[in-house]
Parts: sequence; C-alpha cells; structure tokens
Amino acid sequence: MIKTRFAPSPTGYLHIGGARTALYSWLCAKNKLGINVLRIEDTDLERSTPEAVAAIIEGLNWLGLEFDEGPFYQTKRFERYKEVIGQMLKDGTAYNCYCSKDELEKMRELAEKNKEKPRYNGLWRPEIDKVLPIIPAGVLPVVRFKNPLEGATSFDDLIHGQISFENTELDDLIIARQDGSPTYNFCVVIDDMDMQITHVVRGDDHINNTPRQINILKALGAKIPQYAHVAMILGDDGQKLSKRHGAVSVTQFRDDGFLPEAVLNYLVRLGWSHGDQELFSRTQMIELFDLKDVNKSASAFNTSKLLWLNQQYMMAMPADELAQALKPYLANLNIIPDDAAYLALAASAHVARCHTLVELAQMLVYLYEDINSFDEESKSLYLTEVSKPVLIALKDQISTCEHWDKDSLNVLIKQTAKDLNIKMGQIGMPMRTAIVGRASSPNLDLTLFLVGKERALKRLNTAISAI
Ligand code: GLU
Repeated sequence: MIKTRFAPSPTGYLHIGGARTALYSWLCAKNKLGINVLRIEDTDLERSTPEAVAAIIEGLNWLGLEFDEGPFYQTKRFERYKEVIGQMLKDGTAYNCYCSKDELEKMRELAEKNKEKPRYNGLWRPEIDKVLPIIPAGVLPVVRFKNPLEGATSFDDLIHGQISFENTELDDLIIARQDGSPTYNFCVVIDDMDMQITHVVRGDDHINNTPRQINILKALGAKIPQYAHVAMILGDDGQKLSKRHGAVSVTQFRDDGFLPEAVLNYLVRLGWSHGDQELFSRTQMIELFDLKDVNKSASAFNTSKLLWLNQQYMMAMPADELAQALKPYLANLNIIPDDAAYLALAASAHVARCHTLVELAQMLVYLYEDINSFDEESKSLYLTEVSKPVLIALKDQISTCEHWDKDSLNVLIKQTAKDLNIKMGQIGMPMRTAIVGRASSPNLDLTLFLVGKERALKRLNTAISAI
C-alpha cells in the first residue's frame, strides 16, 4: 500500500511550488490507490501561524486535493518525539552532549583555520573504551544522533536517480535542544516512520536532509521510504520565483479568475510530461502520472500558458456551470444576475474572447449596466459622419422589428446593409461601438439579441447624438 504525505511548514500561504509538490504527492498516492496524508510541520513556533495553516488548507481545498488522513500537527506529537529520544539514549543510538556555545564556536574557528567544513569533534560521543569528560554541573545537554562514522549513505531518488553522501560529511545531528524540544529533521523522521510513509515527495531543497534522515531511520530499525525530490520552479526570466512573477498564494489565482482545474492542469505539466499532451482531466492525471517522468531540472513558470489553459477550460465548460462560476466575479462588480439562462447565454457568447473569469465578468458589464461612455478609440474610428446614416437606418429597422430572436436579427442586419448598399464590415463596428460601447463583441445578431430592443434603441440614439 502506497502512502504519501504533504508536509508544509505553515509559515505562509500555499504558493505555487508548494501546491505542485502537494499535487505530485497526491497523484503518486491516487495513481496506486494509495493514501495521502496532510502533515503540518509547525514545530517552528515563532514562524508558524494558524492563519498560514488555514490558508494552506484553503488552497488545497480550492484545488480539490483532498487528503485521506490528517491534518496531523507536529506540535501535538511532542510526547511521542520525547519518547523516541529517551529510547535512543537508552539503546545508544543517541547521546547527551554538554558542549558549551564557546566550545562549539572554537571547533568552528579551528575548522575554518584548517579550511575544513565546520563539524562537531565528537567530544561527548560514546565509544568503546573511550573515557568521556566529566559532566559539567548545571549544564543542560543537547541530544545528538550517533551518525555512522564510515561509509556512505545512498538512496535511489525516483526523480534524480542514485544520490550518495559520505557519512563523514554528515556530523552528529542535534535531535533535541537543551530545553528538550526535538529538532526539525528528527520530527520528520519519526512522523514518516509512525505514519508508515512509503513515498516522500518534496522539494529538492531537502536532498541534503535525506541521508541524515535515512541514518536515523536505520538506527530505529524503520523501513526507508522511497524519495522523490522535485526541482524548483523559476520565473519565466530564469530567476528564482518570487512575488513579482506571481509566486503568490494559489488562492490568488482563484481571485484572479482562474479555474482550479486549469491551475491543476498547469501545475501537473510544470515539470512533468506525457508525450506532448497538454490537457489532462483529473482522472487522466491520476491515471498517467508517474514520478519517473518528472523533470530533474527546474521548470519555468509561464503566465501565458496558464492563461491559455484557463481559456481552454472555460470554453469547455457547460454554459450553466460557466455562468455559476462567473457569479462571484460579477458580484465583485456589484452585478447580481437574476436570469440564469440569460447569463449562461451571455457568458458562452463571450468566453472565447477572454482568458479569466475576471475578464469575462468585466466583458459582460455592458449587458447589466448602462453604457455611460464609448471607448475613445472605437468612438473616433466608428462613430463618424460616414457611419451616422448607417446607425440611423439600423435604428429604424430595429424600432419596427417584431421578432426579437437571433435569426430575425441576422436578417434585419443584412437587410440594412443591403438597403444602404454597404458591406457588412461597414455596419459591424459602428453598431458594436453604439450598443456595446467598444468595437468588439460576439456576432452582431447575438450581441443585439442580448442587449435587447429597448436598450439597443436607447444606445443607438445616444451614439447618433454623440456624432
Ligand atoms: N516542511 C517542509 C517544507 O515545507 C517539508 C518537509 C518534507 O517534506 O520532508 O519545506
């Protein structure tokens, strides 16, 4: 049974990198009918906040990445960590170290002088036949893990392949501080062991922690999980992703009018591919995802691709669902539509012209509010003396129109062009500018139908008198 976990440190919102790690971990489990655990790594009491926990869970929920177990909080497991530390001290896989800050500082200075990596000199490390120093009075010890002194620790990373570290590089890691609180790497190990995690999917900034964690797991006689370290995400300029690139909370994408399915699709492709397929439903992702197809190297965030994907998803949505999804964005513009069928028709008529729900909502304002002005450029190009007679003829036709349906309106527009002996192109833009406020809209007949007879006449009058 596959068991994965997503283990965020709640020091901020769920950003795009964290969301992708969560997705890969989730897919790795779902793909094999396994279990995914959510674990909140909140031992850094100063930097962890309940608001961040809520924001992370909100982000995961929005993306639809539901977890089978958890959330488990590390801060609620301190008793368990203490218990294992006690056990390790007893069985000799860990030991008390009474070195003072000064002594450690001296070790560091010496290493620097010898141009070596700063490391603990093993002063309090118990060995056969070794006499340990006398325990200084009134000093609280830290607990160190007795790391193997020789050999190498290797693991077969599911993304990077074989990775190996010399044990001499690893030092005797502090697993409990003077106040008894467990340290980060130790908590991760105990959790992965207790939760019987089989696959650890996480950012490649944790590669250096992995051999330390493996050695502790081995000392505890625990099974070693498989590791998959996911490369980082860069901005489209090749720089480390930052706010400037939109390295914002995933819920910011919701607020900016992206659909969760589109963001998920974008994230799955950001560092993973399946041939040259671009669009993946959730079911397809689950079916096709394999960690071995994940890129070793960093991926670049590409806003225009995300916009394109979002448009694809918006266009593929059934009209009533699109209308439903659009409502909160219209509400932000103080528009509360009362006719669901009308909204569905209006939304699907305009969807191909925009990339986000925010854009689509803005595009529909002319159907819910009066037009108070015309787009300047459209006005100067199309509300002219030349177009005036066209708009007047159109107005006359509309005022006598009895059947307000798309087909009749199509005939009406064509007839107007014919009567005036002009091309459709000469009627389209002036008419759009007059009834939409700008020279762009869906097909003329549909636009006219959506605007309605009364409003169309009113707007044509306004446009004519503006010339
Ligand atoms: N809490 C770590 C982080 O947010 C992840 C640790 C892990 O996955 O092992 O970077």
